[in-house]
Amino acid sequence: MTARHPHAPVIGLDLGGTKIAAALVAEDGTVLDRHSLPTPATEGAEAVLDALAEAARAVRAPGTTALGVAAAGVIDPATGTVTSATDTIRGWAGTALAAGLAARTGLPVACDNDVRAAAATELAAPHGEAAGHGGAPHGGGTTLVYAAVGTGVGGAVAAAGRMLHGAAGIAGHLGHLPSPEADGLPCTCGATGHLEAIAAGPGITAHYTRMSGVPADRLETVAARAAGGEPHATAAIVLGAEAVGRALGGLANTLGADRVVVGGGVPRIGPLYTEALAAAFAAELMPPLRELRPVPPRGGPDAAVLGAAALPRTLPLHHPHTTGALR
Ligand SMILES: [Zn+2]
Repeated sequence: MTARHPHAPVIGLDLGGTKIAAALVAEDGTVLDRHSLPTPATEGAEAVLDALAEAARAVRAPGTTALGVAAAGVIDPATGTVTSATDTIRGWAGTALAAGLAARTGLPVACDNDVRAAAATELAAPHGEAAGHGGAPHGGGTTLVYAAVGTGVGGAVAAAGRMLHGAAGIAGHLGHLPSPEADGLPCTCGATGHLEAIAAGPGITAHYTRMSGVPADRLETVAARAAGGEPHATAAIVLGAEAVGRALGGLANTLGADRVVVGGGVPRIGPLYTEALAAAFAAELMPPLRELRPVPPRGGPDAAVLGAAALPRTLPLHHPHTTGALR
């Protein structure tokens, strides 16, 4: 944990399944330079590490002190490795992400899951307008529940201003909460009855088809049919929203949350979704939390890359001199 010069810029990298975004970020959060390139997802982990290093090189300036990388999958910041991942990037699970990047760039590297990195920008934001519900109480920092509802259901949890990582970096995987709405449905993790199976975009789409007998290629199709008054389409969307709302309400009670954020692509369906979610959420709340409401993410499209650039401030740094053997 050395070599931190508070005024020098940090590189943030956001690794997605299709795109790598890089930014050079000053201490005050100003983006000084940016670059993006396609993720060579089918070429394997070494090619992806090479592409990440290339993106970092494109924005690097003299005085750059560290590199933060936010990536999909279960990332363990302590070991700097990809604990597990889907096949979106071939061979990604088990990759020594931090060591591989430190060796390629010569910079100290911190890494985390992409949703958690984006959620961390909610904690860094000014507290005045923060928590919808009177800000962080007792001076202890925000207790945050953050859900990202898209092709999966991811999330992040922070208690008293500190992001939780948990064993193997698994904390925050809200999609794998048991959900009564998903009873009996197989989940991507191998279990059954998890929230993701009914609430992720593909889960809503599949449920629509189960109810109606009519195929739908994607969530947008279901949303269009709901907008056209198709009752099964409406019911599938509302059920997915309610499942998320109930789960978040239960988590808010469990943690004493003062900020609950719902991001990802699915809420873009619009008020049919967000209002059903908010009502189901509110119905679960214990009386002391009854004013709490879910809100959209504060950060714009830069949230993940800004969150990545902030990772070296709070997470273990993996130094090149200890990892050169991987080169
Ligand atoms: Zn699961």
